[in-house]
Amino acid sequence: MELLCPKCGASNRDVGFSGPFCVKCRPVEIKCPKRMEFIRCSKCRRVRLKGNWVACSDEKLAQEVISKCKGEFLSGTYSFMNQEATFFVGDSEHMFPVKRSISVNIVKNICPDCVRKSGGYFEAIIQFRGKGAKISRYERLFKKMLEKKTFVTKEEQMKEGLDLYIGNSRAVVELLAELGIRARISKKLAGEKEGKRLYRTTFLVRV
Ligand SMILES: [Zn+2]
Ligand SMILES: [Zn+2]
Repeated sequence: MELLCPKCGASNRDVGFSGPFCVKCRPVEIKCPKRMEFIRCSKCRRVRLKGNWVACSDEKLAQEVISKCKGEFLSGTYSFMNQEATFFVGDSEHMFPVKRSISVNIVKNICPDCVRKSGGYFEAIIQFRGKGAKISRYERLFKKMLEKKTFVTKEEQMKEGLDLYIGNSRAVVELLAELGIRARISKKLAGEKEGKRLYRTTFLVRV
């Protein structure tokens, strides 16, 4: 039996049907927020998500927008330029796009890490000691991986190696554990802040 879509007149001989409508015209339930706001650090470009400042490309941020939408879609993309989300609805045989406008506002701010960095703050020093070429390799690796969690305030070329000044000492402990690298650790009292003792930790890494 031939069915004609009451909305667009398409026939079920040509396109898939869902109830009385063709798949393109059947009502689609997608709930999205009308507007969303993100805070991005204008120095390091990280975005505050669920209370944390995380490295976030535009694609990742777009997926964050889509993740706030609920409904019967298979996947979705978001265009910041058009302020519009496109959802793909249907099944693998008949998939079609459904658009919804969502206004996403990106507020510029400076994250606490960048505030501290600009003041030369550091909690830890990593001292790499060993052969120059190996130190350069470690330097690149550590900088790349530490950037996700904290910042490098300063680096100092020494006669015997390289010193990296790091904003957060826990980030260093975690990274060393992750890489399975041993370090000789020493702590020095660096002062007091609001009744709490502040320590600076030095990690000596032989490479
Ligand atoms: Zn139709
Ligand atoms: Zn920042």
